[in-house]
Parts: sequence; C-alpha cells; structure tokens
Amino acid sequence: MTDPRVGILALQGAVEKHARHLEAVGASPHSVLLPGDLDRLDAIVLPGGESTTISRLLRTSGLFEPLKAFMEERPVLATCAGMILLAKEVDNLPYETFGLLDISVDRNAWGRQIFSFHENIPWMKDADPLKAVFIRAPRVVRMGDGVELLSSYKGEAVAVRQGNLVALAFHPELTEDSRVHRWWVEGIKP
Ligand code: GLN
Repeated sequence: MTDPRVGILALQGAVEKHARHLEAVGASPHSVLLPGDLDRLDAIVLPGGESTTISRLLRTSGLFEPLKAFMEERPVLATCAGMILLAKEVDNLPYETFGLLDISVDRNAWGRQIFSFHENIPWMKDADPLKAVFIRAPRVVRMGDGVELLSSYKGEAVAVRQGNLVALAFHPELTEDSRVHRWWVEGIKP
C-alpha cells in the first residue's frame, strides 16, 4: 500500500513540524501553495498561524474555492487557525471562512490574558494524557448537532469531528508525541 499523500496548506504558519509528524506515521507530506498542488492529494492539514493572513493569501493565491471543494470530500485535519478557517461562525475575522464545520468560535479567547499555555488533556481511550499546546487558541462556543466531541479541557471542546473534518484548538505538531497524527492518518488510509 502506498503512503497517503497529505497536503499541508503552506501559505503561512506551522508547516514543517506537521510534515515531520506525518512522515513519522507513514504519510507523505506535500506543501500546498497553489491550486495545482491539490492534484493527487488524499487529504489536507490546515495548520495554525494567523487566520487573517491565511485568509488573505487564500484569496490572492486563488486557493480558496478549489481548496473548499477539496475539503468538501476529503479528510481534513485543522489546527488552531485552521479550526477558525473551517468554522461556520467566527467573531472578529474580516474575511469569510470556509464555513464547512458547524461550530462557532471566538478567536484568541483562551489567550487574552495568557498568550500560550499547555495542559494535559484526555486523548481517545489512552491511559496517557496528551500534552496540548495552546497559542492564542480559538474557543469553541457552539457545536452543531452533527459535531462530535473528541476531547475537552475544563469542560470546553478542544477537539471536534464532523464527518471528514477534524479540528483542534491546540497544536499537536509542537510536541514530540505523534499520537494525533497517527490516529488521523490511520483513519484516512484507503
Ligand atoms: N489566534 C490566531 C488566529 O486568529 C490563531 C493562533 C494559532 O493558530 N496559533 O488566527
């Protein structure tokens, strides 16, 4: 079986570290900068970064529409700013999001007082908690009926799934633990 070909939206943000985790769990990472880069990909990662900047570059690169069409069908792992871009409703973002994931988020809500922090959160049924790194993270303030909770912190959703879309408020690429990438890649193998 060939390794799944996973794109990483590389307009801005944490690209290289996702690539390393993807390779570690048997996927083949490919940077996505232009619409043609989506050809022959099996899945895509929307990394963290700055959602205003990424939104602007999605328009100037011509990627917005083709990427949206790709994500309507294929597996997506969205982290932090990526979660913001997928969400149906976002406070205070001067751009339209992809709107594919039926959640509402507040940008930077976790980080107004503290810029970043890490916490152990439960991951699947693992005995070992997962160290989750939050950097000016979005807060999920509403989840639609079709949205499943994967993990929470202090009673708030920090990892959710809706069909082919997985979105995390934290940065799984910033630790050495590849469990999140492994779980996601296992789920996208043909
Ligand atoms: N707060 C950032 C935004 O609004 C996201 C931060 C991140 O991706 N680490 O885009």
